[in-house]
Amino acid sequence: MKEKLKYERPIITKINAGVTDKFGMRPKMPAIKEIDGVPVDTIIEKYGSPTFVISEKTIRDTLKEAKRAFTTRYPKVKFAWSYKTNYLNAVCKIFHDEGSWAEVVSGFEYDKALANGVPGNQIIFNGPDKSKEDLIKAAENGSYIHIDHFDELYDIISISETTTKRPKVAIRVNMDTGIYPQWDRFGFNYENGEAWNALNRIMMSDKLELTGLHTHIGTYMMTPEPYAVAASKLAELAVRLERKFNHKIKYIDMGGGFASKNTLKGAYLPGKDTFPGFDKYAEAVSNALINSELDPNEMPVLFLETGRALIDDAGYITGSVLANKRLANGRRSMIIDTGVNMLFTSFWYEHEIYPAKDVSSHAEDTTIYGPLCMNIDVIRSAVKFPLLQKGDKYVIKRTGAYNMTQWMQFITLRPKIILIDTQGNTHVIRENETNESLTSHEKVPEHLNKPKK
Ligand SMILES: *Cc1c(COP(=O)(O)O)cnc(C)c1O
Repeated sequence: MKEKLKYERPIITKINAGVTDKFGMRPKMPAIKEIDGVPVDTIIEKYGSPTFVISEKTIRDTLKEAKRAFTTRYPKVKFAWSYKTNYLNAVCKIFHDEGSWAEVVSGFEYDKALANGVPGNQIIFNGPDKSKEDLIKAAENGSYIHIDHFDELYDIISISETTTKRPKVAIRVNMDTGIYPQWDRFGFNYENGEAWNALNRIMMSDKLELTGLHTHIGTYMMTPEPYAVAASKLAELAVRLERKFNHKIKYIDMGGGFASKNTLKGAYLPGKDTFPGFDKYAEAVSNALINSELDPNEMPVLFLETGRALIDDAGYITGSVLANKRLANGRRSMIIDTGVNMLFTSFWYEHEIYPAKDVSSHAEDTTIYGPLCMNIDVIRSAVKFPLLQKGDKYVIKRTGAYNMTQWMQFITLRPKIILIDTQGNTHVIRENETNESLTSHEKVPEHLNKPKK
């Protein structure tokens, strides 16, 4: 018997490529010949193919834009850089130089922030995995510990018996913001009373200093409304604390999660058209806080842990075409030297890829593969793309978020990462891997070390 065909969700995508412009001409895919004034050819000649590129100017400009949106609407605003989004030291230091604190989610990231010169009292420590040693260190350094669950709360109460400082804590709150599936695995739930219960325990224990309330409602949130709901719920908890304990918290931390301009797979419109802009998010959050019952004379500081939306645009990959070939059905395919091992986000984004030189207006439906000998190594499954030859160069846009932390060493060695500073000078900020650097972590037992017969 023949098997029933599997149901596949239909996807409607707006086709831009191939539609004529207003003069009846076919639009040509634009070329990206340089990044911040540095020619792509120069980058590849000097640093190899492929190379990851980070634009310092874009990082600074994007953060300034986000800050402007929030500080013009709310009196006290602070950004804390989300380390897991991109924890290259050079990148973190640019954010810290602009005044951002550090937001970390592991002991490893915590130590990295300290080593980057961030004072302990400017580190926010999130996440479900903090060891007792981590907690003691964070308490002694005066860092802000955001409690994830009751077991952690009891750990902190127990270490507070011996630490010289009173631990500064906040709780992470999860809640229904109208976005499903709800992120309820982190923190204490608002609707079922767990969050209020945790706050009461902290206040009653007298061992901890309750400094704030935290939430992080999701990632790549395309609409600002859920932030308004979340901010209202946190404000409501803060007001209840004031009424019951006469205790004012210092800050409300709205976490991260703003969308970037990348296009999600299956989206109808390109991400650069659907990104709401920082102003919309800022409007939603500040309205909710300002219109709440919070004491207008002592409004809490608003913290933002924006990751993706601040760094995605600053990252590029420059590389070369390895080959072109026809698939069995005649479809064109192109193999490039960037694989999913280094472009992790290609699993959920339709990354924009451009030629690095002028091309003809002829474009053909193309599948773009990476160099790995693995079926999953697809960078774009279908894109109208001009014909590039072996050795021609390309640029992939918006690769700054999560790739340089989630990439994996697999089949090929990871390339160099360079920074283009605001003067247009290039600097290597992470060396490429070598056989030696990789095998330095390996050990071979004595009995396998004999020379081959
Ligand atoms: C990952 C994370 C962020 C950053 O999220 P983006 O979606 O990249 O903005 C902020 N806060 C916490 C607690 C996180 O886990």
